[in-house]
Amino acid sequence: MIWRTSCVLVFCSFMGACALQPKSIPPQVSSAGYTSVSSTLLAGWIYLRSESYLPGSNLASGPPEIKTCESVTHRIQLEIYPGIEPDVERTCRNIDASATEAERWFPKHGTRYSVIIVPEGQSISVSRWSFGYRSAHLALAVAAFGNQERREGNLVDLVAHETFHILGRIAGDARGQDEYYAYYAGLCAQLVVLGSIPESALPGAPLQGGVDEPTRASSDLAYRVRREALLLSRDGSIKAGEDGGSALALRCIELQKVTARPDFNRGPNGS
Ligand SMILES: [Zn+2]
Repeated sequence: MIWRTSCVLVFCSFMGACALQPKSIPPQVSSAGYTSVSSTLLAGWIYLRSESYLPGSNLASGPPEIKTCESVTHRIQLEIYPGIEPDVERTCRNIDASATEAERWFPKHGTRYSVIIVPEGQSISVSRWSFGYRSAHLALAVAAFGNQERREGNLVDLVAHETFHILGRIAGDARGQDEYYAYYAGLCAQLVVLGSIPESALPGAPLQGGVDEPTRASSDLAYRVRREALLLSRDGSIKAGEDGGSALALRCIELQKVTARPDFNRGPNGS
């Protein structure tokens, strides 16, 4: 189950979205982790702060191996922690394709990526910032789940969800801060890039107590999207080419066509 907490009115996220940046990491963080991205725009300059947290019984220990993705259309770097040997080429391709899908919502803009990959069950806390003219550099930490469907679904969903927030912000479109759309951006990318969405990769259930209002709002919207998506699932997943997948693809096109809404909040903002 995925629950992305990211805020848009200050960019917080698993990089998920909330209206304001959460004051602390919520207590019920799933094993997929928590991401927060906040941004400030000023005359074309973009300050972006990415924060990721993955829970685990022991701390991931480095140093990570750095790999630069080749033959892809985006600038992507992987930081791979000891203990795992991911398929680098496939991982790069999935990140690249997911970013391209997110760009369908807000064309003409792009992002750079650093993806920190940690063995399943190990914890890490990552905080990075970038500052550039009309360019953003997103840092995301992901768990290398042993289950391939879950591992790839989570990665593609996370990249698309957070990219959606950032590009919406750069485009000055208020939809970029709307978690409902952001969760759909993740699902739409999974459907196109991976061809199926297992129910384990759908957004999560609502949170109860112990979280702040923006985080709760984000999780409520995740649950709404989850309920809508479950109607399209058959035998445990939504598959491209089946009725559920075709209905989701149409929904994605429909949402992508929704008229842009001006974003008057040009100050600090998170998703
Ligand atoms: Zn979000």
